[in-house]
Amino acid sequence: MSDAYATHEVFNQSPPFEDVNLFASDPALMEAVSREGGGHAAKRLTAFGGICGSAEALQCARLANENPPRLRPFDSKGRRLDVVEFHPAYHECMEISVKEGLHCSAWGHLAKPGAQPLPGANVARSAGTYMAIQMEAGHQCPITMTNAAVPALLVEPELAKWWVPKILAREYDQAFKPAAAKRGVTLGMGMTEKQGGTDVRANTTSAQPAGSGGPGAEYLITGHKWFMSAPMCDAFLVLAQAPGGISCFLMPRFLPDGTVNALCFQRLKEKLGNRSNASSEVEFQAAHAWLVGEEGRGVATIIEMVTCTRLDCAVGSAGLMRLTLANAIHHCRHRSVFQRHLVDQPLMAQVLADLALDVEAATALSFRLARSFDRVADTHAAAWRRLMTPVTKYWVCKMGPALAYEAMECLGGNGYVEEGLAARLYRELPLNAIWEGSGNVMALDLLRVLQREPETVEIVMDDLSQAVSGDAHLERHLARVQGLLHVPRLLDRRGRDLAEALALLAAGTILRAHAPTAVADAFIATRLSGAPRQTYGQGLDWADTRAIVDRALPI
Ligand SMILES: Cc1cc2nc3c(=O)[nH]c(=O)nc-3n(C[C@H](O)[C@H](O)[C@H](O)COP(=O)(O)OP(=O)(O)OC[C@H]3O[C@@H](n4cnc5c(N)ncnc54)[C@H](O)[C@@H]3O)c2cc1C
Repeated sequence: MSDAYATHEVFNQSPPFEDVNLFASDPALMEAVSREGGGHAAKRLTAFGGICGSAEALQCARLANENPPRLRPFDSKGRRLDVVEFHPAYHECMEISVKEGLHCSAWGHLAKPGAQPLPGANVARSAGTYMAIQMEAGHQCPITMTNAAVPALLVEPELAKWWVPKILAREYDQAFKPAAAKRGVTLGMGMTEKQGGTDVRANTTSAQPAGSGGPGAEYLITGHKWFMSAPMCDAFLVLAQAPGGISCFLMPRFLPDGTVNALCFQRLKEKLGNRSNASSEVEFQAAHAWLVGEEGRGVATIIEMVTCTRLDCAVGSAGLMRLTLANAIHHCRHRSVFQRHLVDQPLMAQVLADLALDVEAATALSFRLARSFDRVADTHAAAWRRLMTPVTKYWVCKMGPALAYEAMECLGGNGYVEEGLAARLYRELPLNAIWEGSGNVMALDLLRVLQREPETVEIVMDDLSQAVSGDAHLERHLARVQGLLHVPRLLDRRGRDLAEALALLAAGTILRAHAPTAVADAFIATRLSGAPRQTYGQGLDWADTRAIVDRALPI
């Protein structure tokens, strides 16, 4: 064998970031889970953190992204097939997440009639999601949608009676066959059409009653969806125009008689990232579907699903941000430049610490939001859920892409090549901001709460007012938020100002109360003091950057 490639030793390159326990190595996550009510799940999450961070799982993630799904619209003889084939590594990722119950564990109590929701179920599930998305992001799409479909399905008890037990099964069954013959199922959603995604009331897809119509009845759906992800799901919640207006339907891939429903996939999107996941364009050719809720109440019915997916967007982005940061710190601890490790160089230490502050804030905000999903019976939690879902989704998902870029730069040239993790994370991160309500849509939703539910705003603002006391920066920032709230004339132009200001205020109060002083002081001084900053790594010359970085990824 030629030893032409054996002439030099590879040194000063970081080892692969793998075989890392994604729970045990993340103090901010562990503390958030315990603080927000998911502490009972710590043992299970530690085991799951080991699985998600294993070299084997990360290898599956790489393969699933390097071998994207393929649409097979027809068989070799021209008959319609409408199936999407995934690489086995994608199915491995699905197995891992379904076995952990990430597609259903928030609803585990539904298995026993009359049972109450399990305390901390959303927080524990969110911690699993936070880690599973670090393992691989694309497969989380059907996992999230399945979990989120449950509250919408519950609107139609007869449909729920059949589908929810199937959803609660923690078995991944990739077979393309009727749901009745499957061990477990996944659900997707189809709202977006060519002429409008945000404005779903502009949907042109039509629904005609197959019989007398009405809640739970069968309809025939004709039209299209411009984005319908995870097309191998067993059923989809879709919006279409019924005689009574825009309505929500459950559309299965197979009909009760075992024949394939008329969902004709046109093509799969070629996406910037999220490559392991298939996102289809689809035509419904008189496809059969069952009405969920009343005709004309489609948006109200599906909004519960959308709200749950928004929580996952925030949690998922926080998880991806955490991985980009951990990967950057890991590299900088091993890479020397000018005879000194990067992590020890003052400028790099400031950059890494600065990134860590946003990750800590994103994690704190996301898990605080998850707690509010667990405690909706409590007025304060319900108010937090309503007001802070758009705020948290807005801020966390918007922070991700810029953070991923800066983290990529920490790796130098290694950050920019496809084989490394950083490039995939960079391509993935904008997505959570775009789908399930893009930035402006979140800001508009926030304004809707201000206009229609002033008591909700009052409850959250009272809670935040109490939490700022004693901190001059937080008190000044609170006054700024109140100033924004009290200029109703200009509110429609200030949705983004307000979303960001509220997110920072909430994050500042949580960190002040619960994070180490080094983290809280640095976050509040740099994000809430009004000092100008447009890029990372500024304003922390006084801060204990070593303590911040070591907390972010303990040695
Ligand atoms: C990879 C991927 C997968 C997807 N999967 C699915 C899926 O499974 N099911 C599904 O239904 N959809 C899916 N979508 C679609 C996604 O939800 C929509 O793209 C998104 O909701 C935005 O809708 P739109 O593309 O029609 O943009 P538009 O509605 O045209 O919005 C464009 C921009 O205008 C902004 N905007 C909208 N209204 C206002 C306003 N009043 N004032 C100011 N700004 C405004 C928005 O924030 C956005 O930034 C997917 C999208 C992607 C990228």
